[in-house]
Amino acid sequence: MQMNHSISVPIRYALGVLLILALSLALFYWLARPPIGDLSLMAVFLSITAVISGIAGFAAYRQGWMERSPSLRLTLLGINVIASVLVFFNVWVTAKLMFTSRHDLFLATVLLIFAGSLAMVLGSFLSSTITDRIQKLDQTAREIQQGNLHARTPERGNDELAELSKTFNQMAARLEQATKKQHELDTLRRDLVAWAGHDLQTPLASVRAILEALADGVVDEPEMTQHYLSTAQRDIQNLSKIIDDLFQMAQLDAGGVPLKKEKASLGDLISDSLESFSELAARQEIRLEGRVDAEVGLVMMDVQHIGRVLTNLISNALRYTPNGGEVIVLSKRQDTEVIVEVSDNGEGIQPEDIPHIFERFYRGEKSRSRSTGGSGLGLAIAQGIIQAHGGRIEVESSPGKGSCFRFYISSPPFH
Ligand code: ADP
Repeated sequence: MQMNHSISVPIRYALGVLLILALSLALFYWLARPPIGDLSLMAVFLSITAVISGIAGFAAYRQGWMERSPSLRLTLLGINVIASVLVFFNVWVTAKLMFTSRHDLFLATVLLIFAGSLAMVLGSFLSSTITDRIQKLDQTAREIQQGNLHARTPERGNDELAELSKTFNQMAARLEQATKKQHELDTLRRDLVAWAGHDLQTPLASVRAILEALADGVVDEPEMTQHYLSTAQRDIQNLSKIIDDLFQMAQLDAGGVPLKKEKASLGDLISDSLESFSELAARQEIRLEGRVDAEVGLVMMDVQHIGRVLTNLISNALRYTPNGGEVIVLSKRQDTEVIVEVSDNGEGIQPEDIPHIFERFYRGEKSRSRSTGGSGLGLAIAQGIIQAHGGRIEVESSPGKGSCFRFYISSPPFH
């Protein structure tokens, strides 16, 4: 590619010079209808100057004079100077050979110097539309290099430079995005270690304190001992739930959970889940209800995993709903999709938390400070499982009014 490019430039240059020579002679013939002698004399003059100019230009190109310039502005000025000097040289030599009058020659010389200089000044002035944009691009690149990833260069014009500026800005935007993502991942990893550590440490510390108290004989009344033991039992249950969640999340991360899909009754699964929470709901005086449309019927799913999704959603709903509230589980069919809704009239979710609640280890501000909060993995796991089924999960919530979690799985009706 490079090779082709370096060959084609000089060839194009030589062809250009030849074309100009031919066109100039044709123009001279067309305008002046000169005798053949004058035409051939003109052809000789023009050829000599064309060859000399051509060689001078090629030498400048070959020697890389332009590349030695410290700035693009000087390069462009240099190009203008060379072009003007060549024009001057060509016309002046030809004129000197042709004009008999010294007066005419002086006049032509002054006119040439004037026109050439004017062309140089105008050329440099107009070339600032290029150099200014390149300077701005360079300045933006430096700003980005120094860490200001918001810096962008103006995208003026329709030429290659405008295209370059656009590509540059797109690249800068991607760099900014990637850096932001990396930063978020770093923060997440740090938080993850801190939260997982804290979540495991709290129940462990409690169990240790209980065991030490029992071993030291500090507690000897049977009632107290029983109370301590059931607290330890609850702490151990919490611990195993966190470890279980971590394991499930790791499995989802490592390329998804292996699903054992089968045709099963979603209605039965919902009933079983409600059944397992009935005691907890009764204790919290929460009305827990389920309504499943008859058309839902059998659904192609991994029963154990969808059961887990229901468990996570219902346990959240119970956790974030005050005594006397209600939690309703609904299921209906829409064409080839089944929809399951778990809604509560509890505390709801703050709008700023909503975009994050499906992220792993994310807990709403209130839940984070609450000692009985979960691991922050429940919804991330639910989303992972639903996505593994090719479905989607979403939430609607208003603070103070309640939340509604809804998931969709596609499954044709089986009869
Ligand atoms: P956690 O174990 O903390 O419940 P989840 O991933 O299950 O973690 O939920 C993430 C966060 O979403 C919770 O900390 C809570 O702030 C919010 N959340 C989830 N379900 C509900 C709900 N039904 N009502 C109010 N907030 C909820």
